[in-house]
Amino acid sequence: MAETRLLVVEDEEHLARGIRFNLELDGYTVEVLADGKQALGRLAEPPQCDLVILDVMLPGLDGFAVARKLRAAGNFVPILMLTAKSLPEDVVNGLEAGADDYLAKPFELEVFLARVRGLLRRRDWTRNGSSREAPLRLGPAEIDFEAFEIRRDGVVHRLTLLEAALLRLLLQNPGRVVGKGEILEKVWNLAADTETRAVDNFIVRLRRYVEDDPKEPKRILTVRGAGWKLVPD
Ligand code: CA
Repeated sequence: MAETRLLVVEDEEHLARGIRFNLELDGYTVEVLADGKQALGRLAEPPQCDLVILDVMLPGLDGFAVARKLRAAGNFVPILMLTAKSLPEDVVNGLEAGADDYLAKPFELEVFLARVRGLLRRRDWTRNGSSREAPLRLGPAEIDFEAFEIRRDGVVHRLTLLEAALLRLLLQNPGRVVGKGEILEKVWNLAADTETRAVDNFIVRLRRYVEDDPKEPKRILTVRGAGWKLVPD
């Protein structure tokens, strides 16, 4: 079996050591860095990492900036973000920056390891799922949930895990209004009443992929005060 390489970016030495020890016990190859800028440099070089565990409060560059820069550079390595506080804003900022999952400190080791396994499973499923799913069409776009890609007019856009999960939820409910609370619970794993514009921002992004004119949406409609509705072709 190929090795699974994890990068831990955490400047609290004691915590970083504990995380490394336990991940290595689980059979992973682990690298540890304590600086955001160094992490960004490392991730631009081979060998590729399979997962990044990224603390928010870091010297050099904070975790939000690292995630944002990685995504802007087209690097879609799964990111588990460690937020210092369990504040919803922190969580939401992390997810908007491009993290795929988050964990608030302090956390239970077993919960942490379960999150790592969960993210790696989602990644593996996209790579070599045995029941390969045919790409779906929505208007001009072809959505490939296996490759986490949307292809349109010969251009390939990469989807983050959360973008794909939101799109999937809408596609599973064609013609039904899906509310923000339901989306926050099912896609973001947040309480339904969390105050955030995250969902609205993601909808704007998805519309750029699937609408002919994102300002005049015909496929992902806003239903005022209720949520969003996907109109199938
Ligand atoms: Ca820190």
